[in-house]
Amino acid sequence: MRNLFFFITLLVSAESMAQQAASPKLVVGIVVDQMCYEYLYRYSEKFCEGGLKELLGKGTNCRNTQYDYIPTYTGPGHASIYTGTTPSNHGIVANDWYDRSTKGNINCVDDSSVASIGTVSNYGMFSPRNLKANTITDQLKMTYPNAKVISMSIKNRGAILPGGHLSDGSYWYDYATGKFVTSSFYKSELPNWVDEFNDEGYVDKALKQEWNTMLDINAYAESGPDNSPYEHLLPGKVTPTFPYNLKEMTNGINNYELFVYTPFSNTYLTDFAIASIDSEDLGKDNQTDMLCISYSTPDIIGHAFGPYSVEIEDMYIRFDLEIKKLLKELKEKVGEDNFTLFLTADHAVVPVPQYLIDNNLPGGYFFVDNHMIELRAALSDKFGEDLIIVQDNLNVYLNHERIDELNLDLKEVSTYVANIIQRWESVKRVFTGDQLYNASIDDEWMDMVRKGYHHAESGDVIFTLEPGYLAKSTDTETARKGTSHGSAYSYDTHVPLLWYGKNVEVQEVFRNVLISDIAATLAHILYLQNPNSLRGKPIHEVLMK
Ligand SMILES: [Zn+2]
Repeated sequence: MRNLFFFITLLVSAESMAQQAASPKLVVGIVVDQMCYEYLYRYSEKFCEGGLKELLGKGTNCRNTQYDYIPTYTGPGHASIYTGTTPSNHGIVANDWYDRSTKGNINCVDDSSVASIGTVSNYGMFSPRNLKANTITDQLKMTYPNAKVISMSIKNRGAILPGGHLSDGSYWYDYATGKFVTSSFYKSELPNWVDEFNDEGYVDKALKQEWNTMLDINAYAESGPDNSPYEHLLPGKVTPTFPYNLKEMTNGINNYELFVYTPFSNTYLTDFAIASIDSEDLGKDNQTDMLCISYSTPDIIGHAFGPYSVEIEDMYIRFDLEIKKLLKELKEKVGEDNFTLFLTADHAVVPVPQYLIDNNLPGGYFFVDNHMIELRAALSDKFGEDLIIVQDNLNVYLNHERIDELNLDLKEVSTYVANIIQRWESVKRVFTGDQLYNASIDDEWMDMVRKGYHHAESGDVIFTLEPGYLAKSTDTETARKGTSHGSAYSYDTHVPLLWYGKNVEVQEVFRNVLISDIAATLAHILYLQNPNSLRGKPIHEVLMK
């Protein structure tokens, strides 16, 4: 009997050793905020050896990776990558939305019950409490408490949602001090290594520098002219053109908000990630750890200047060098065969609609404020009062209490609202909550709205716009500059997905891959139970070795 027990113990330990040998020591997740799929190719001649080209040439490239819900925003994107499901399950239905319980606007990572750690500002008062599903990082920590999960980003939501509820440290940028901070949800004080990193004063030094093009400006043939009417002006500038002399632009007064509009912000985050590898002993023992990095500045520069700007091209040429530096450090510190990395985006972006208009392409603007005045008036005529609380993210939130008090039927009021909206120019589709909750899913546009619809968080009537349109409050000169995202169309939904490192084949996958498939694949790489609401399917090509 004792011998049999000994034999079984041997078998079990041999099996778990085999698993440990098959698992990487570290999984690195990189999210590039607002990265379009095409950037991998459009700028490829300008990329160095050892950066993005290394990921493209020596890993698995899922060339047709799509978001399958709306809205394609930052919060829902990060939540979906790491939970392997859509807003209908994880509840992050936008970056900000109307919260019926508090009768006010909430941010996806708001948490008034926690305190800032590492700053006296309010920029630390955030947590993943609004995230209703487990992340793959949660699953790793639940199964293996010794596993380390470290998450970081310039944006709070870019760090908090990937790190999940159990992270050993989720850090984001404090716009008041230029330092990395966290909240009391995670810990009561910053670790020494974070304090030391903050004390190096990288941001203060960077704000005295100039951001100029890395190459001769005439070499940026992949982009439009530097001085373009479609770009926002940064503070302290009279044209949207290089060079950006930060010291002159700020009169020498540190502007920590301006910092995130520069590629220096990507360097700051990479250096922070590299510091965490040593300080947190990531990938050092046989228990797999996870490092989640989300680069926010590509989105911030992208909103201001658009996808055809010299600014975005120069930022990506420099971002490529960050990837090279990170890969070099991972190979040295964790070992070439000991880590697996994936790189994706939380959404992509539409070209500046005014550019589309000027070039006779489909697209334009939908000005919301006047439409809402018209809608409220129509409701008052029909029902005696307007019954609308607010419009947010093209979701119309109706006043349920008043509808009950007036003995009206929510379905009837919603349908009335939907019928008016459907008649508006440049509206593509409109759905009522009742339709989304109960309907079948053979309509692909409705399916995408359904997957983004959460009955407790979303509005009562949701509408979408025609391709190339952006919603703006009112028509102003500024409204027609810069760009955004959020739609169900390919320019927003088609993103890069690259896998690299231990056990990853060199190949291209052309079939449709969904963003929820990333967490499903990670669950198998890590030998974990699937996260609780996972709906994605493993990308079997990545797992073939
Ligand atoms: Zn984003």
